[in-house]
Amino acid sequence: MRYDTDNIFAKILRGDIPAFKVYEDAETFAFMDIMPRSPGHCLVIPKTPCRNLLDASPEQLGACMRTVNLLAKAAMTAFGAQGITLQQFSEAAGGQEVFHLHFHILARHEGRSLGPAGVMGDMAEIKANGEKLVAALA
Ligand code: 5GP
Repeated sequence: MRYDTDNIFAKILRGDIPAFKVYEDAETFAFMDIMPRSPGHCLVIPKTPCRNLLDASPEQLGACMRTVNLLAKAAMTAFGAQGITLQQFSEAAGGQEVFHLHFHILARHEGRSLGPAGVMGDMAEIKANGEKLVAALA
């Protein structure tokens, strides 16, 4: 399977479409998911192209995991969470919809299920939660 340079996350990386950035370093970019399944649902992606876990290099995976670790800890603080769910879907049969490697970071609370996938979030709430994550990273 080839990497499609017109996928949504490639467009976000190029600045062609907007995203609420929460973190960036030389190798990775992290931003809020517009259809959050838990408070502060955010995504970590490599800046270089790859579809998913199946074609990612060890360097891309290592860089993403460093950023995932930072954001997971920030999400625990920002949302008073009791745990984190980390999701990664590879290829359509694995549940992937956007074909640029990404990791979902989901803050979890006891007894609270994840919300449904594919439901557009409230933009003001997403922005406020993004600001909480940025503050917790500082
Ligand atoms: P997956 O490919 O792992 O199934 O999920 C793709 C994720 O990207 C979904 O959680 C979806 O809500 C999110 N998403 C889809 N389009 C956009 C977009 O334009 N901007 C942002 N920030 N997230 C998006």
